[in-house]
Amino acid sequence: MTDQHINSDWIQKAATIRFETRAFIEGDYQVSKGKAIFTTVNPATECELATFTDANPNSVDQAVAAARKAFGQWRHVAPDQRKALLLAVADRIDAERNTLALLDSLEMGMPISMALEQVEGAAGFLRYNAELIDKVYGEIAPSDPATTLALSLPEPRGVIGIISPWNFPLLTAILAIAPALAAGNTVVVKPSEQTPSSVLKLAEIAIQAGLPPGVINVIPGRGITTGAALAGHHDIDKLHFTGSTQVGRQLMVYAGQSNGKPVMLEMGGKSPQIVFEDAANLPGLGKALAQATFYNSGQICVAKTRLLVHDNIKEQVLALIKAETQQAFCIGNPLDEKTTFGPIASRKQFDRVNTYLNIGQEEGADIQTLMTAGEMPVTGNFMQPVLFDNAKNEMRIVQEEIFGPILSVVSFKTDEEAIQLANGVNYGLAATAWTKDLGRARRFARDLEAGEISICATTTPATPTASLSTEPFGASGHGVLAGRRGLEAYQRTKAVQIITD
Ligand code: NAD
Repeated sequence: MTDQHINSDWIQKAATIRFETRAFIEGDYQVSKGKAIFTTVNPATECELATFTDANPNSVDQAVAAARKAFGQWRHVAPDQRKALLLAVADRIDAERNTLALLDSLEMGMPISMALEQVEGAAGFLRYNAELIDKVYGEIAPSDPATTLALSLPEPRGVIGIISPWNFPLLTAILAIAPALAAGNTVVVKPSEQTPSSVLKLAEIAIQAGLPPGVINVIPGRGITTGAALAGHHDIDKLHFTGSTQVGRQLMVYAGQSNGKPVMLEMGGKSPQIVFEDAANLPGLGKALAQATFYNSGQICVAKTRLLVHDNIKEQVLALIKAETQQAFCIGNPLDEKTTFGPIASRKQFDRVNTYLNIGQEEGADIQTLMTAGEMPVTGNFMQPVLFDNAKNEMRIVQEEIFGPILSVVSFKTDEEAIQLANGVNYGLAATAWTKDLGRARRFARDLEAGEISICATTTPATPTASLSTEPFGASGHGVLAGRRGLEAYQRTKAVQIITD
């Protein structure tokens, strides 16, 4: 890939950035105790970035012990002080946004402009949870007022193990770290082995912001080694996993075989966007549909990779999506600020996504390669977005999460058919229905089996969702994310009765 034409100092910053490859435990970097090594690779160039050592069970023990020790103090930090500390961490994230975004962009391939947005989102989510600290409290239950004071008393759970994926490295980790810390817990985080650096950097800058040592510990390592050791650890009080359904279900086995810890699972998706006839002429529809599918090159858990469209408007809607893809997405070097369509995050994932191109054609769907703006780089895991027309619900391209820029199109004729198709997969993460009909909006909001639902009568972007709690259906997982209930997911509740004469 040639960088000559890029008007950006990101290339220069990338050349001098330093990758910290040690674990971050009890407030400082520590050499991981382990022999196995793994290497991070820039998916835009396929060049190696850094070599890490797997945190082995001894390092995991050390990190969990540090978190346990810190919990003894962090749980007693007064709410206003805890809030101030987390707000200070959010400010430090803002101050270090270029470094954090660059680390994510280099390791994951996310366009730098998007990576900056994700860092902002991460700081915002942390602020939201910090602000909740003095607004979430327990209840007084009915009891005999002459003798008893009965309380439902929320308390932190203890040490939370967090295992996170590569697609939004910093943001997905903070979606768990923020409510866990706000509720008074401490954390041990194992980021994806493809993208460990922004989360390590977060732990470092949190200390600079004044967070006590041991509150955030980060152990880089692979899933089968470090991840399994964390998930099966006897002194973790709750596990938060974000990743694939297959691995998430394995974590429930580790949890059951160790101390029976509760597991919160945010897993895969195959989300639909349903377009009814009355929405065909909404201004900006093509843009909204293309963005929902191809943002981050389709590597987003809530990507709307199934287009369910009314038969009468299918051709019109497909033309809109094609035109918008060419206009809004620019393929190229992620460090070019003009780029909005980056590579697939690893060679393994690239090969996997590409196998679905054959699968879809063998199943009888009609493949069309869409064109983005920009110039296709000659190196790296780049591919153009793909659309499969005339797909059928039973096809693998419709049923399975591909996690790449592939959209399957299924048409319908009636509302009943649309809801059956929408709910006709194992996943249930998100869904969008485009309609101006209020009755239909109400019915679909009720009947769609997904945790995150948008019923849109216009293409105005939805407001940020830090305050909206969501819980997935089916193979997409369980446990509440975001909002007040998302923080409460990191508390346990004690029933306390104080009985006096
Ligand atoms: P993955 O399941 O392969 O890995 C996720 C994490 O689990 C990584 O840190 C990995 O090292 C670890 N892991 C792997 N095997 C393990 C094992 N045996 N024991 C313990 N840990 C193990 O997922 P991925 O490829 O990193 O991410 C893509 C997946 O994540 C997609 O399925 C996507 O839908 C999902 N995802 C879901 C959400 C959500 O909020 N629902 C958000 C982002 C990504």
